[in-house]
Amino acid sequence: MKKIENFIGGEFSPPVSGEYFENFNPATGAPYSQVPDSDERDVHIAVEAAEKAFPSWSESSLSKREGILIQIANGIRDKSEELAHAESVDNGKPLTLARSVDIPRAAENFRFFASAMTHFHSESHAMGSEAINYTLREPVGVVGCISPWNLPLYLFSWKVAPAIAAGNCVVAKPSELTPMTAYLFSHICKEAGLPPGVLNIVHGYGRKAGAAISSHARIRAVSFTGGTATGAEIARTSAPMFKKLSLELGGKNASVIFADCDYEKALKGTLQSSFANQGQICLCGSRIFVERSLYTKFRDDLVAEAKKLSVGDPLQEDVQQGAVISALHKKKILDCVERAKGEGGKILCGGSEAIVNGRCQGGNFVYPTVIEGLEYDSITNREEIFGPVVSIMPFDQEDEVVNYANSTDYGLASMIWTKDLSRAHRLAATMKTGIVWINSWMLRDLRTPFGGMKHSGVGREGGVEVLRFFTEPKNVCVTM
Ligand code: NDP
Repeated sequence: MKKIENFIGGEFSPPVSGEYFENFNPATGAPYSQVPDSDERDVHIAVEAAEKAFPSWSESSLSKREGILIQIANGIRDKSEELAHAESVDNGKPLTLARSVDIPRAAENFRFFASAMTHFHSESHAMGSEAINYTLREPVGVVGCISPWNLPLYLFSWKVAPAIAAGNCVVAKPSELTPMTAYLFSHICKEAGLPPGVLNIVHGYGRKAGAAISSHARIRAVSFTGGTATGAEIARTSAPMFKKLSLELGGKNASVIFADCDYEKALKGTLQSSFANQGQICLCGSRIFVERSLYTKFRDDLVAEAKKLSVGDPLQEDVQQGAVISALHKKKILDCVERAKGEGGKILCGGSEAIVNGRCQGGNFVYPTVIEGLEYDSITNREEIFGPVVSIMPFDQEDEVVNYANSTDYGLASMIWTKDLSRAHRLAATMKTGIVWINSWMLRDLRTPFGGMKHSGVGREGGVEVLRFFTEPKNVCVTM
């Protein structure tokens, strides 16, 4: 069984404890690698390595940093097939998805921030002939990056790339459930010439290694993506230590479909936003509101399309729905379906475990599920399920659907499907979400602010926002 190693100070090492735990393939249910069970001692060694690297990395020229980030992007590109395969095995997602989305995007994150940092600028404020202020943007120091399992290398690189581009040194922890591509990536960093200690990757459980990152006094900022409850826990630990915090948390996003939409586009887009990555994307739309005159047709077509999605071995090229992340998560999803039934929901398709024969007999599969008949404020429509389960409901009036869409504690993304542009802009302005897509889903420009309102997070990442997060502004006032 492959043993994953920590990457600290440019070297590969076992955890101080010497203990490992098993990493399971979600599509087969079998263990296939071993993960270091790191703790606060490993995190502390990583912090010391990062501190040692910081003076020289933070003062290195932008062109040096840009060159190394591009080498890393090239390394990801050159190993893209190996990485895509590893991501599919580790996470259960279809290989075709890892190949077309996850891995290209991880490379793009490095390519983008290599260049973005060279265009990053700061302000100056003149006080007439009396003085001038200019703002320095200095790297924060040693920063922590903690990422989830749903888009493993995609989100890991989304944090690490801007952090190191801005001159910080990083202690990072990928999810214990999907550590493999971060491990393979550490080899790419070494080969790309990233100086020792600039990026340190500590593997292990969130409650141990992750908590040691958020509580370490010398880690000055934490960028976290994951569940809202974990985000609250990290805030409880980090806030009294006055760390900078960026929290990208859960979502319960609404798709709002008007009768005047481009029907085929809206149907295809909603099918994707419902079930891509088995519904395990924070941006997935799990509440679908359809204008009543279109409701029956849209519902029937969505259900027919959901039934056509092929569920099976993620390594097979024609499979559209792979495994969900774990047996525990499968149970959570199916429990949510039972709760929905208890709330009066009618299962239009799916609603049960899918048994896949052969190699994947012991895997964790759930059929794409569409539920009808729930109140907009039912628990099912308020709590994140994070699986291939959506709830569909009709609406009559625009202000009514705005109220429905905004009725959860979350506020990450919303999708509006209409050809009426005035209405689209009007609704976009009223949505309490950090992202609004009009007639699309997951169309991403890396320059844009990314993040959520309410319980979906604090702060924004992406583009200049994340470079601001990973730097400290310092005002210098000079009298003339
Ligand atoms: P978790 O919150 O369980 O875990 C996220 C990361 O935090 C993992 O690396 C985890 O480690 C670690 N962690 C867990 N407990 C602690 C702790 N006490 N201190 C520090 N770190 C800890 O989320 P999931 O991995 O289950 O990811 C799914 C969630 O992520 C969903 O809610 C989803 O909506 C959200 N998400 C949000 C996104 C956004 O951009 N807003 C994007 C993608 C996902 P370990 O796994 O080892 O326990």
